[in-house]
Amino acid sequence: MGKCSKDKRDLYYRKAKEQGWRARSAFKLLQLDSEFNFLEGVSRVVDLCAAPGSWSQVLARRLGTATRGIDSNATIVSVDLQPIAPIPGVITLQADITHPSTLTNILSLFGGEPADFVCSDGAPDVTGLHDLDEYIQAQLLLSALALATSLLRPGGTFVAKVFRGRDVDLLYSQLALLFTNVTCAKPRSSRASSLEAFIVCQGYTPRPGWVPMSLTLGENSGLSLPTSLDEFDEKKMTPLERAVAPFVACGDLSDYDADATYQLDTSMSTLSLEPVQKPTAPPYKTALEKKRNGTLR
Ligand code: SAM
Repeated sequence: MGKCSKDKRDLYYRKAKEQGWRARSAFKLLQLDSEFNFLEGVSRVVDLCAAPGSWSQVLARRLGTATRGIDSNATIVSVDLQPIAPIPGVITLQADITHPSTLTNILSLFGGEPADFVCSDGAPDVTGLHDLDEYIQAQLLLSALALATSLLRPGGTFVAKVFRGRDVDLLYSQLALLFTNVTCAKPRSSRASSLEAFIVCQGYTPRPGWVPMSLTLGENSGLSLPTSLDEFDEKKMTPLERAVAPFVACGDLSDYDADATYQLDTSMSTLSLEPVQKPTAPPYKTALEKKRNGTLR
């Protein structure tokens, strides 16, 4: 396989490198925003599960922090388990979004002010054990939602990656208790062959007596979230409980198809582009260090 083969197989991957985005995911947020315009007028933003940082780059560009730096009155806080290489105009935090202390840390960076917009593109490292992977992904989404509901101002927006699995309609119905508009959106840069989609939840309506992080800590949040799969009894559920969120495909039909293979311009076809940001903590880092020290066995 040639060095350019991934660039041809995935034009968004190639275009991301050409345009200076750290990951092809940037196009997902750009296409979602062009459909919903949810970044208009926002100034306090939290980007959860943000490494390597392409969404944060989009946010910094859109909110003007990338160019105006600390003079800008906007604040972007980006959180990930992995260290995020610095992005102008973005405050980065290496933290676990499932840990309760992360909420306090983010709040202190905002000086106690609520956020206008919280997003999460979270995905765990897959183990290959399907049930376990699905469970961890669900926990990650729950933690992102718990943080969002503790950080957002009334009327704020939450956007998160979901996988449209068997019980996704249950998720929509629970979200509809917290937000006035819940839409399932599929940007054109997200492969049609993948179950990935994004929930766009607008108009946050806080529940009276909301306990921050109560969704993940299992305290009484006022929501009737089941605590285990055994609690689900699908037959007893009313149509309201199993809601259907409107589905919106975002991005122009003339945009590149994420599943297609394209020919690069002849002048570019042999030119392989370097990554915009090399991984900060790749799993092979230790092996490389050992190889350098001559201690690799
Ligand atoms: N939106 C990012 C971008 O545009 O560059 C890409 C995000 S990547 C698909 C998913 C990220 O979720 C990974 O960087 C991973 O480290 C992060 N992640 C997974 N579990 C996490 C957790 N518990 N806390 C914080 N970040 C987590």
